[in-house]
This record gives sequence, structure tokens and C-alpha cells, in this order.
Amino acid sequence: MNSEAAAKRLEAGMAAPNVYDAEPIPEAARIEIERLLTSGDLFRYTAAQDAPVALLEAEFAAQMGARYALAVSSCSAALFLSMKALDLPEGARVLVPAFTFAAVPSSVLHAGCEPVLVEVGSNFRIDLDDFRAKLDSADAVLISHMRGHTSDMDAIMAECDARGVPVIEDAAHSLGTRWAGRKIGTIGKVGCFSFQSYKLVNSGEGGMLITDDPELAARAVIMSGAYEHNWKKHKGLQNSFHHWQNRLPLYNMRMHNLSAAVIRPQLPLIEARVEAGLANHDHVAARLNGSPWIDVPPALPQETRAPDSLQFNLQGFESDDEARAFQEAAERRGVAVQIFGLSKDNARAFWNWQFLGTLPELPKTRAMLMRACDLRLPARLTRPDLDFIADAIIAAAAEVKARR
Ligand SMILES: *Cc1c(COP(=O)(O)O)cnc(C)c1O
Repeated sequence: MNSEAAAKRLEAGMAAPNVYDAEPIPEAARIEIERLLTSGDLFRYTAAQDAPVALLEAEFAAQMGARYALAVSSCSAALFLSMKALDLPEGARVLVPAFTFAAVPSSVLHAGCEPVLVEVGSNFRIDLDDFRAKLDSADAVLISHMRGHTSDMDAIMAECDARGVPVIEDAAHSLGTRWAGRKIGTIGKVGCFSFQSYKLVNSGEGGMLITDDPELAARAVIMSGAYEHNWKKHKGLQNSFHHWQNRLPLYNMRMHNLSAAVIRPQLPLIEARVEAGLANHDHVAARLNGSPWIDVPPALPQETRAPDSLQFNLQGFESDDEARAFQEAAERRGVAVQIFGLSKDNARAFWNWQFLGTLPELPKTRAMLMRACDLRLPARLTRPDLDFIADAIIAAAAEVKARR
């Protein structure tokens, strides 16, 4: 919450829950960080074996059931390396949902490819008609599971497999999500995750790339910065590494040992955070759906979500001013809600991605962004916190609609 809203809550004698703090770091991380600081061993390739980054990769791969995991500096770096490792030609067309974070189409540009934005519907998921219409001219597909909403992966994989188009999953915000029992990030050819502070696992910055494809893994490892023979510290793949030696650029996007030390003790906590986050989300969603002015779209039938935030659509709010009035009314009650398309310079509104050059008109996505609200809902919130938030939102919507 911004400080102004917080001050108003305090004046009113009511404590609004703080939804902005990141996930706490387990105590166990301190001991390992102390050890690393004492030894100065901060670079992943200094130790002969068992560096924290290497241990994290092994643990993450095992937890996800993936053959290979590569720890990198961010999810954006993982997305960039995925496209480079796929050896996409210069100017390759990569489909990206138009509802995502600006860093995602940016990673496509960074990889020398052309992002092609695909419409997203009012349920925050890819519009399959627009997807199919654009797929024939695509060289790759980057599915961004924005805010942990999973698009129809059965339909997407069937269409892409039929055409031999590789799928990259941006699972930055989907750690713990399942699709028909399968872990999100393991369905496409590559899955990419983020450990930036506002994700389920918090190390400030950090990312992970997972794949079952040995050639892709070997190429990504080298390009991430396994220079000279540092690739020997990655298990398996040794023949592939020999093959690619000196043939690939080194982009140096490695993970820091301190990041791995912060992430590793959080891995065993993922399941509990997912469970708590989903219960919190579903409680607030059920309450909000009781309001005639609010719609929280349901998960798809195959999907078991792992949300740490909640998105809902304002219904029957004809004008932008009315939608803004709702935002203000919620803030007066201590709850900061962001309407993606109505906040200035929002990095999730595609019309702000001027770095892409000519922007397409995407009326469905635009209409959604103009009424879709974003609310952080961390796993640690209590039932009274959640009810405070739900009460504030329901009352704010009712107040604005009663004025008319
Ligand atoms: C956070 C996020 C990213 C970017 O992750 P970084 O690790 O900060 O690069 C990409 N896609 C989605 C859906 C995200 O939520």
C-alpha cells in the first residue's frame, strides 16, 4: 500500500494488511551466506564441486521432474537463452500473449527475434482464435502464464506439435501451478522461472531454465557463461559440450552463489506457500463473486493454480472515470487495487511497449486491461486480512454504483 493510504487507515484506527512485503527468507539461509562471505566463494564456478548454484540446479530439476536445470540471473535471461538455445534465426517470429510484462517481448527483441502479440480474453488467457490465425507464420511460441493464469495448454501444444513449432513457457509467476496434474514449465520444450522478490520464491533477482532436451540444455549452459571448460561442472551432456565448445557466444547471465543460498531453503516451502496462496485466493474470489459488479474468472478445468495475487474484472463500469472512482474508493478503505490499463505507464499494458515500434490494435486485450484489477494476495495473509480486503473491494464497488 502506498504511504498515503496507510496513513489514512491509521487515522481511521484500522490496520489494513500489508500486501507488499516479499516472502520471508528462512533462517537457514543466514548460515550459508555467512559461510560464503567468510570464504569469499561467491562465483558458481570457483568450487570444484557442490557450489550452491550447482546444488540448487540439481534440487530444482528433481523437484520439477525435469532432466536439466540451469540457474541464471533472471527469468528474462532464461527466456532470452531459451530462444538462443533453440537457434531461432534472426528475425524469427515469436508469438507472445499481449497480456504480459514488458520484459517478455523485450527478451524476444534481445534474442534478435520479432515478437508477434496475440490477443488475450477477459479470462486473462490467450484467445485461441487469434492464436491459431497467427500460428502459421510463427517460428516459435512463448506462452507467458501471466499472473499465473494458464492458457489452454492442451490446445496450444496440439497446434504447435502439429506444425513442429517449439513452445517456451514463461512460468515466472507459475511455480507450483499444475495442468492436468503436470507441473507448469514442464509442458513446453523449455520452462523459465523467476526468483525476483514478487514471486513465490524470493531471492531479489534470479531465474531458472528447465528442459528435457540435452542439446538445448548444453547450448544454454555454455551461452549462460560456462566459459572454457566450466561446463564440466554441469553433470551429463559432456559430448554436447565438446561439440559446442568455442562455437557459441558467452552472454554471462550466471546466477550468484548468494542467490542460490537464499533460494535453496525456500524450495521445501513451495508446497505450503502454494496451498496457502490458493486457499487465500479462492476465499477472496468467492466473496468478490458475490458482488454483481465484480467477476473473478474461474480457473480452467485442467488447471490447479498457485496464485499469490488476484485479478478480477469490473462489470458494468461504463466509463473509465467510474472505474477510477472504484480504485479511489478502495484506496480510501486501505486497499490498493491497480487497474492495468488505467495506471500511467503500466508495464503490463501493451500500448506502452513503444520500443516494439508499430503496435498492433488488439481490441480484446485492450478492453480487458481497461477493467481488469490487480491485487496482491501473499500466502502469509490471515483470514481477517483477507476479509478486510474483500469487504473493502465489495464496498468500494457498491459505493460507486450507488452514486448513479
Ligand atoms: C516477473 C515476470 C517476468 C520477469 O522475471 P524476471 O526474473 O524479473 O526477469 C516475466 N514474466 C512474468 C509472467 C513475470 O511475472
